[in-house]
Amino acid sequence: MSIGDFYRRGEPTFSFEFFPPKNQEGVEALLRTVADLREAVNPDFVSVTYGAGGSTRARTLECVTRIQTEAGIPTVAHLAAMGHTRDQLAEVVRGLVDSGITRVLALRGDRPKDGSAPPPTDLAHATDLMEFLATEFPEVEFGGACYPEVHPEAASAVDDMRWTRHKHELGAGCLITQVFFDNADFFRFRDAARDAGIGCPIVPGIMPITNVAQIERITRLCGSRFPDELHERLDAVREDPAAVMAIGMEHSIKQCRQLLREDAPGLHFYTLNKSLATRVILAALRG
Ligand code: FAD
Repeated sequence: MSIGDFYRRGEPTFSFEFFPPKNQEGVEALLRTVADLREAVNPDFVSVTYGAGGSTRARTLECVTRIQTEAGIPTVAHLAAMGHTRDQLAEVVRGLVDSGITRVLALRGDRPKDGSAPPPTDLAHATDLMEFLATEFPEVEFGGACYPEVHPEAASAVDDMRWTRHKHELGAGCLITQVFFDNADFFRFRDAARDAGIGCPIVPGIMPITNVAQIERITRLCGSRFPDELHERLDAVREDPAAVMAIGMEHSIKQCRQLLREDAPGLHFYTLNKSLATRVILAALRG
């Protein structure tokens, strides 16, 4: 099934994003988390990041392959061009294809965590990587990222939408959004994307709220807005994990319900390698 096909089945598609752990012990723990998730919510697909937030790129191949073969869940491998030559990228993609992974989320990539300049590459943008994949690896199906609140480095919202449309024109099977907490931002973006001629599924990226400091750090890094009212409610109970979880789940469930009611083709959960919060949300949505 191609990435786009996941969203053409007439029912919402639920996908879960994980990052590759730093060591082998972590990989085994991740596989157990994914197995729990499969038992509880039967994900439509799982994706594994590639150096997101400047973290490790190692083990993406091992994680996607083992989740697909051992846990029996279809996977999508993230692939980021940042800092790679074409030859290096070709080697990574060949490794994926040889292991039976032909679905990729094609990204430019985050800058290195230590703030150093990434090595130069002639594939400076996700669209360059998409062109490369379409030319060199036609057997690979790809999706891409999009930004309801505009990418922080974009020259303007209009310019950002132009490049987002180019991803669709290059054959992206879907576009998964950056995390957002206010659905109004998603609906505004989706309307503008449709007006711009973007016809592929636009999938909301949801980050369950379980820890205030973590959400503050992530929103600072990726430029997503943390609505004041929600932030204040959480801040008041930040030292009380059960109270944070209760407010966080209430918000996330409400957010997901509204998105599905308003025809989102599915939901992509940023799990941060934990399964409890997403299981709670999915149980509420299905129940
Ligand atoms: P691009 O589409 O290249 O956009 C980056 C900027 O360049 C934007 O401002 C855009 O408007 C502009 N632009 C785009 N194309 C062109 C062009 N052809 N010419 C000129 N300007 C252009 N990062 C990782 O490192 N690993 C991951 O696994 C990962 N997974 C992610 C998954 C999702 C769903 C999302 C939303 C993000 C993920 N990221 C990941 C983060 C992502 O790499 C960063 O947000 C990065 O800053 C931009 O990536 P992009 O693919 O959107 O880049």
